[in-house]
Amino acid sequence: MAPSTMKAVNYVGPHKVRVQEVEMPKLEHPDDIIVKVTTAAICGSDLHMYEGRTAAEPGITFGHENMGIVEELGEGVTLLKKGDRVVMPFNVADGRCRNCDEGKTAFCTGVNPGFAGGAYGYVAMGPYRGGQAQYIRVPYADFNALLLPPGTEHEADFVLLAGWHGVEISGFKSGESIAVFGAGPVGLMAAYSAQLRGASRVFVVDRVPERLAVAKKIGCTPIDFTKGDAVDQIIRLNGGEVDRSVDAAWEFLDSMCQVICPQHQLVRIANLRQGLSLATGQCNVKAYNRYLRDLIIAGKAKPSFVVSHEIRLDHAEVAYEKFDKREDGYTKVLIHPNGGFESTTVSQKFISLNSLQVLSFLLNFSGTATLEPNVYFNTNIR
Ligand SMILES: [Zn+2]
Repeated sequence: MAPSTMKAVNYVGPHKVRVQEVEMPKLEHPDDIIVKVTTAAICGSDLHMYEGRTAAEPGITFGHENMGIVEELGEGVTLLKKGDRVVMPFNVADGRCRNCDEGKTAFCTGVNPGFAGGAYGYVAMGPYRGGQAQYIRVPYADFNALLLPPGTEHEADFVLLAGWHGVEISGFKSGESIAVFGAGPVGLMAAYSAQLRGASRVFVVDRVPERLAVAKKIGCTPIDFTKGDAVDQIIRLNGGEVDRSVDAAWEFLDSMCQVICPQHQLVRIANLRQGLSLATGQCNVKAYNRYLRDLIIAGKAKPSFVVSHEIRLDHAEVAYEKFDKREDGYTKVLIHPNGGFESTTVSQKFISLNSLQVLSFLLNFSGTATLEPNVYFNTNIR
């Protein structure tokens, strides 16, 4: 007999989340599944709600980058079975409306009445609870849940498929050069995506040394805009303007216009809310997560390099606080709501290594980061 309640990370007011006991999700439609969440990421756009800058009501469960194990299936689900490991795009889509037909699942008209587009655990994005919880209901599961290989390998890589923003560089052709403005997780992911897709040169603009160091580590040319005009630096190093430009920080529009060749594309990566009003730049995760999954399985992509911390659910309150203040190198946090990652698998070693490297950059550069072994790293996850 399944338990009737579970733990979830709930918004309770500005700058406050609490791990609360809530009702277990139930199948509400034959096409639904219930997923036991193994990993859910905290995203920068969760902070918009966390900080009280949205209309989010207390009680909303956060978490739109989710993966886990299929626990229960509605009778209409045909492609999945109990025990399957799956990852969901942050968009909820029905797979049958006109926009979905055209691959624009971020603007599905069938999942959020009155709006185009739905998501898990996000204000105004429909009635879908987030995955920073032990279980999550996934609607239209055959369409929304992407099957992964069994086991725990690549766990931290796969969860990032849920929100992979890199392919916003639509129309990108291999051999082109790109400038990415902003080297937070989204910007770094865009830069990495450009690398995977064969960019000739990728420039990453930021001011934070450890972010620029990570950019360099994945083969990009770091541009520190505190050491001279970013556009001048890029044009000098590239021998001219770049072909494409990505704004992952929302503060570089002028520079982007200056650095790019005429007639070429300029992209802004929007988060959930901004994507709605801008009607561009939100990613249609469904359109490419299958291919990125296969790159990860083949060992050609390891997006988990952006992960700074892996925690258990009980540490979510602290993690939100630190992530919000950008303390102790909290840049990309993964929650394991059901534990189960205490054993050191190959992928976990890899993740720990990455986390440690990121942290060591921080230690080197700021000298202030302190290690809290009870919170950090998977060795302590139940
Ligand atoms: Zn649709």
